[in-house]
Amino acid sequence: MKNILDLDTEKLKLWMQQNGEKGFRAKQVFQWIYKGIFDFRSMKNISTNTLEKLEKDFYIGVPKVVTKLVSKEEDTVKFLFAYADGNLIESVVMKYKHGNSICVSTQVGCRMGCKFCASTIEGMVRNLSSGEILAQILKAQEEIGERISNVVLMGSGEPLDNYENVIKFIREISKSEGLNIGQRHITLSTCGIVPKIKELAHENLQITLAISLHAPNDNLRKQVMPIANKYSINEILDVCKYYIKKTNRRVSFEYALVEGFNDGKEQGEELSTILSGILCHVNLIPVNEIKENSLKKSSSDNIINFKNILCKNGIETTIRREMGSDIDAACGQLRRRYLNN
Ligand code: SAH
Repeated sequence: MKNILDLDTEKLKLWMQQNGEKGFRAKQVFQWIYKGIFDFRSMKNISTNTLEKLEKDFYIGVPKVVTKLVSKEEDTVKFLFAYADGNLIESVVMKYKHGNSICVSTQVGCRMGCKFCASTIEGMVRNLSSGEILAQILKAQEEIGERISNVVLMGSGEPLDNYENVIKFIREISKSEGLNIGQRHITLSTCGIVPKIKELAHENLQITLAISLHAPNDNLRKQVMPIANKYSINEILDVCKYYIKKTNRRVSFEYALVEGFNDGKEQGEELSTILSGILCHVNLIPVNEIKENSLKKSSSDNIINFKNILCKNGIETTIRREMGSDIDAACGQLRRRYLNN
């Protein structure tokens, strides 16, 4: 049995033809699935005979909702999803005026080991297939009863550590006959796996690349991100310039502000210096405190001062709005709470 969501229309068309069915049935099946029908038997324009054959070879791999939490303002909905093998991942829907955005997971757990992140504490269990990542969107849409128009790959996992499945997922959701999510509405966030960023630059995609920088120099970065021992900030910035040249897309840098660690004037100036002249945007994130470490969120004064330093130096900067902090919407906390119970 295969997850039908790991096939595209062309592949299912081939299967139809090999099984004595008309090729156009493939499109019909996917139309149903994209409409939120996750049971072959409910596909009304398809004969029982065809459905029986489909059921023999395929299942529709949408995860089950284990927990669904809605924030007080109702603008954030967090899901703990379970796949058929029992593995758990989190997805978060954020409702904005300009549309609904989903933060999807790309791996069960993560092996990057960033100190501030709850997803990585038990390491990586397995990669998610492209269909499994896609299924997070389908299930979330069904649950909220609205279309999702923006996707950020910022849930658990390192997307570039699951490269092929992630690229397949991006191509699939951006197809007009699929979910039709414009590539400019897709953001891929990475801790900075340099050779993979280079490969990504060659994929001819129009997505936004976000780099989890979190420090203005390698010494500081190494204290919280093991990947910094492998790739230097210089190498990361070089490959970002390459990405910008190839794609004409502005790169985002994420910087989680931790009190007394990376939020001082000196770090603000240093960050401005290394980013000057790069077509970029800095996203400051007040670090989400997790109980597994002692990293504290910067004070709002420090956050504003830090932003002002960057802006004064001509670096476009925003402070990420904190949404859903009342529902543990950040960074793997819900799955951990569940695993520990
Ligand atoms: N592995 C990818 C994507 C997943 S993490 C990456 O590293 O980019 C998505 C973003 O959340 C990253 O910028 C990550 O550094 C950040 N993050 C993780 N834990 C956090 C926390 N406790 N507070 C604030 N940001 C956090």
